[in-house]
Amino acid sequence: MPRAPFRRKSGARESNQLVRLAEGLASSKSRAEDVYWERELEKAVTAHLENNDEEAINRALDKAHDSPENTFDALADMVESLTESVLIDSELGRQRVCLFAAPILVWGRAKIPTKTIPKQVVQNLTVQLSAHVFSSKAKVSIVDYLFAPDQLPHSYSESRAMLDTLVSSLRAKTALSVDTKTVEDAPDVVCDMRMVIGAFQVPEGEPFYAWQEMTTPVEEARQTCLANWRAQGGAAIQPMLVGFPHELTLPRTFFSACRDADLASRAYSIGASVSYIEAVTHTPPEKLTAIIGGCWGNGIEEYRIGFSLGDEEDVIHGTIWPLVSDEAEDTPVPDEIEQLLRAAGVTHIITLDEQLPLEFCDDCGAPHFPNREGEMLHAHLPEDADTEGVQLH
Ligand SMILES: [Zn+2]
Repeated sequence: MPRAPFRRKSGARESNQLVRLAEGLASSKSRAEDVYWERELEKAVTAHLENNDEEAINRALDKAHDSPENTFDALADMVESLTESVLIDSELGRQRVCLFAAPILVWGRAKIPTKTIPKQVVQNLTVQLSAHVFSSKAKVSIVDYLFAPDQLPHSYSESRAMLDTLVSSLRAKTALSVDTKTVEDAPDVVCDMRMVIGAFQVPEGEPFYAWQEMTTPVEEARQTCLANWRAQGGAAIQPMLVGFPHELTLPRTFFSACRDADLASRAYSIGASVSYIEAVTHTPPEKLTAIIGGCWGNGIEEYRIGFSLGDEEDVIHGTIWPLVSDEAEDTPVPDEIEQLLRAAGVTHIITLDEQLPLEFCDDCGAPHFPNREGEMLHAHLPEDADTEGVQLH
């Protein structure tokens, strides 16, 4: 994480002030009062971001969790929006520049690539994003690298730094080149996400997205844009993911695109797991047993889905369904998982009632998955599985 050389240590007083302003905004009852709190909160957060003082922001976000309802969201929204979006002056007048992500859900039998995007593909993607996702007023520039989520900026200041670099790329009408030596290794997992990252620029006050310029109801317009992006953007991405089934989700400003894709990936990984098992073990879905179990830390944290062959006790593969904060324990998540399994062709489904531990392998860190008896086991593909990966133990 880049640190400013003279970064001063921020005190509790500064965090308290951020929380106070966020609470004011969250509890305001009129647009007129909002304006005041928003302006003050924006000033305070901007100062911390510009000082590279991420600790104060993170401390305030921690505190905001214990504050009245919606305080956390008010603060997080402000921090994210000031991180991913900036106003600049240009000869064309005030311009809004925003960082965006175009996520791709993907699975594979071999290691899913992360790589430099060839020049021609950069050009195609930029054209398709301009045509189908962003408004007619938008200029678009992308980063010439297909990222795994672990390779994205890890902090608000790193994200902001990427946006600042893209502002220069937009001005120069070029893509942003990444030095591949600076990119971290991505983990080798069966089902993952890849991201195209970039920035768009619109004159202040103009629409960001193509669906804002349509006259059909908003959700319908958005779905039209997504369908067009999947067709045209998908064709542009295809050459980089040959042999890897994938699905494009809606490109949007950075944080919301990543969050939406995270949520979408949970459902995607269920179908992907079933397809993967079929591809490497030649077992059709109806010969599988899927076991759904809730794993508990302080409360229920995630569901883990173990897959076994027939009525065997070994677990051959598994996938995780992490819960997000607005999903209470009474949300029928297991029902949703069961529906997705059935849609993927799995007919033998067991939902365990017991509270399972959040267990991981001591050797490789892989999560354990429940079998039909409710035991948490390391997933091992059968020895004759047709996989290109290497099983560790
Ligand atoms: Zn292990």
